[in-house]
Amino acid sequence: MLQKGDFLKDENQDLLPDVLDVKIVLPEDADDAMLVAACNLAWRFGMETTGYKGNITADAAYTGNRLVLEKAEQTELVREKEGESVKVSLRGDGEELIAFTSRLCMEFPQINGQRSWKDLLMDMVDDFVLRSADGQLAALKAMQKEQTGEYEVYGSPLWNDTQKKEAGDAKVYNYKSGQKMYEKVYELPWEVEVFEKLLEEKVYPQIGKGSKVKITGAVSENIKVRQKIKEKIEDRIQMLGAKPEDTFVICAYKQGYSWIVEEMLPVMKEAQADQVEIYFKPFLPEGQTDWLDENGATPSYHNLNADTPDKWYDLPIRYLQELYPVEDILVKELGIERDKVIFKAYEGKEDITYLCKGIKDEKVCCEDTYKAVWSERPYMDEYPQMGKVHPATGYVKAEIDGQEVFYQTVCTDMEEIWDVYQKEVLPDCRRYIEEKTGGKISADLQPFFHELRLDVTASEPDYATGSREDLISSLDALHEDMYFVGSDYFKNYGVKKADVMLDAPGLILPVIHEKEGRPVFKVTLTEPLKEEACIVKDGKTVLLQRKREEADAWIRAISWENDNFTFHIRTNGVQSNVLHTYSTLWSKGVLAECESVAAGTKLLFESEQGEIQYAALTPEREEKPKTKRIEEIDLHEHELIGYDTYREIIEELKQVPGIEVFRTAVSYTGRELYAVWIKPEYEGYLSMTKRISRIPGEMINARHHANEVSSTNAAFILIKKLLTEDVYKDLPDKLNLVIVPMENVDGAAIHYELQKEHPTWKFHVARFNSLGKEFYYEHFQQDTIHSEAMGLTRIYDRYVPDMIVDNHGVPSHEWEQQFSGYTSPSYKGFWLPRSLLYGYFWYVTNPEYKDNYPVNKVMEDVIADKIAEYPEMRELNREWSAQFEKYAHAWMPKLFPANYYKEMINYWIPFAADPNHRYPSIRFPWITTVAYTSEVADETAQGEYLNLCARAHVAHDEATIRMLMEAVHVMECHLEEQDGQILTSYIRQRPMIVKVTGKNK
Ligand SMILES: [Zn+2]
Repeated sequence: MLQKGDFLKDENQDLLPDVLDVKIVLPEDADDAMLVAACNLAWRFGMETTGYKGNITADAAYTGNRLVLEKAEQTELVREKEGESVKVSLRGDGEELIAFTSRLCMEFPQINGQRSWKDLLMDMVDDFVLRSADGQLAALKAMQKEQTGEYEVYGSPLWNDTQKKEAGDAKVYNYKSGQKMYEKVYELPWEVEVFEKLLEEKVYPQIGKGSKVKITGAVSENIKVRQKIKEKIEDRIQMLGAKPEDTFVICAYKQGYSWIVEEMLPVMKEAQADQVEIYFKPFLPEGQTDWLDENGATPSYHNLNADTPDKWYDLPIRYLQELYPVEDILVKELGIERDKVIFKAYEGKEDITYLCKGIKDEKVCCEDTYKAVWSERPYMDEYPQMGKVHPATGYVKAEIDGQEVFYQTVCTDMEEIWDVYQKEVLPDCRRYIEEKTGGKISADLQPFFHELRLDVTASEPDYATGSREDLISSLDALHEDMYFVGSDYFKNYGVKKADVMLDAPGLILPVIHEKEGRPVFKVTLTEPLKEEACIVKDGKTVLLQRKREEADAWIRAISWENDNFTFHIRTNGVQSNVLHTYSTLWSKGVLAECESVAAGTKLLFESEQGEIQYAALTPEREEKPKTKRIEEIDLHEHELIGYDTYREIIEELKQVPGIEVFRTAVSYTGRELYAVWIKPEYEGYLSMTKRISRIPGEMINARHHANEVSSTNAAFILIKKLLTEDVYKDLPDKLNLVIVPMENVDGAAIHYELQKEHPTWKFHVARFNSLGKEFYYEHFQQDTIHSEAMGLTRIYDRYVPDMIVDNHGVPSHEWEQQFSGYTSPSYKGFWLPRSLLYGYFWYVTNPEYKDNYPVNKVMEDVIADKIAEYPEMRELNREWSAQFEKYAHAWMPKLFPANYYKEMINYWIPFAADPNHRYPSIRFPWITTVAYTSEVADETAQGEYLNLCARAHVAHDEATIRMLMEAVHVMECHLEEQDGQILTSYIRQRPMIVKVTGKNK
């Protein structure tokens, strides 16, 4: 009754109550104590609303919503429904009544950790329908008491050790954990052996004594392996009495880069070239000359077009792309300026891919050409109408005495693996789904499987080039290809088969290892142990999870005994024996929910008609004092933070004064999401309604995409700054700020495992959750199975933020996918990082919200000014923008847009207001003025570079916080008396007024 609901109504849709729909009814003979109690409640109601009309009291004849005070022995508050209205009776007398109401007004309905009774009751309902661990344990105990037998619980992942012990000899499983459904192992030929066998069988027999033999070729291998091949070839030729000439075996992967660095660079060095011109042939289908440029500022997210079988995914600059980052190597090795490395499109008629000219003193001093070799295949074998891609392939070429005697292409290991993936693995998985569903596919049957694990071992190049965070790794690329193409496969399958886009079929998880030798590809498909929670007795399922609607729990009454509350919880749809064990377990402190309420709190669980009651007493527990200083906590500012470390930090932060750390949600697999609220230290009751009405709110969300790692570090660094720096002393009084350090906890756990083996790969698979789902679309959906999405939903409802800053990231190096047209089809514009930090403003276009846009514009300014204060960030921003210009934007300006404002790139994405939109600034434009997405190049950043990325996030966060702290607010402040009625309101108008301050004013 003291929060949004029957009495406190939100009629202007700002998520805050603005109408008080209750009257206090006092008896004729009300004494002082009763008047005090009534005043307390009137005060508290006033605290919870932004507007009021009418008169707070009414006489006994009033039949609307009312709070009726009655003199009685027993002090209590009882809620009853009377037709359409709600009657709450407050009974009691004297000091007891005053003590009871004042405590009620100070605390209710808050419980521990920024939660309210509403949240707890919802959790209890989940317990009663067997959805969560507490309820599963209670149901098990109730059954064990009645019938002996062998019990198995297929329960929630959240069962703790104490609960398992309590379960006695019953076996407890996490019903969501995986069981193997099938496994297949493919052993494939190694390209090096194929390459050498071809020489052995087709070339060496042709070699005569004294002849000059030139063997060239390419395999997708690291330099060590290729060096060995080269030595072996030269030995063999010499053994045959012939003379090897210019043998080279370059890397099939990024052939252009390999050719320039390994073949041309030594020649140019020798010739002391002071300028390099590299001509690349535009990559276009026969007969096509136009370069198609398309908008690439935002991702298209999905690749579903399937009407152009002749379409090439590859861009015209494909062979320029393959050169990246060769400029850095040439500059370093030749000691020349960056502008002395010049890329040009080759317009000549020769059948070549590259022409490289070394220039000294304005004259060509060396020159050579190279033809890169590729193969052609459909993007998707099963959907050839989607178009074609052109992965690199290997080859062997032999010339004897100047005559070509042999030429053959050689499949790379990557191609062999890809073939199996397309021809066997994906169709196998599809057949599995069809069999399982009986061919009736629909989106709500997802996930179809728990995990499709693609375990690949292959011998491939995988190394850092030494420039920035650049990598040459065909395996990092394969990881992306497998994940994204696998996802596209199921999306397309759904569209073709049932006209639905299947975007969460299950987790497609590539796990890739680099090892010299033959490639091995192991595929394992797992399923959850059970579809839903259940209890099995003697091999038979005896109890199944039910729907939420099948049970209910609410507070019927609160009574006052021994200076403490007793909550009378009325239930519906719960067996009385389960209610009994639940209350017993509550008193024992075995239920996780116990922690929600204060020790000593009494609960009385009542059956449907109230005829049966079970009492439970919340046991004492150890509370850690809030005396820790944040400086004492290791925040791992220079290390990647995985889920476990994050939880350790969170536990420590709970002990720091000045902040409130609270759980907001539990993920699908049972991991916990926390928020950190920068809390004002006022005395007395703190009304969130009044607070939100007075000052703006901001939510900073980190790690929505879990492979975008630095925002978690940034969140912790920021919290420390806010608590320790003088400029933020007034923050709690000027801004209602809540920070979520890790939203995608399940993704973070997946990422952490993967990065152990490959610390700097991109790992986009880990940006989504454990079911491979983008749960951004699940925000504001109350009953989602992707329960981690509830975190943001709950915070939004409670903090009603004017601004949401979502801290994201992009790859720290090239995002190439050779089996998808070299760039990811849905994220083409993201091929190269464009700056250390850039941003997106998702703004609303409706005229009625026209004042939102200027706030966004000011924010753009303050962020740019702030970043300019850090030379190291500015420097890297400049370096990246120069690379982006040289390899991408200059050639295809639409696909690779780069509009600078004060040396920063921001993309402005307009939308018309839409109540179902995924961005709160578009969904609730009257509430949220700014939704800003920041992107730093941190997939995957480690060590000092990670720290730099994190500091870039902190910098824009700080700029924004300062802007909000200095904002000016217009209040709609109204008070009027009319015929004994009061009309009053106190509402902060959104948006706030902000300005650019600081030195760039
Ligand atoms: Zn992201």
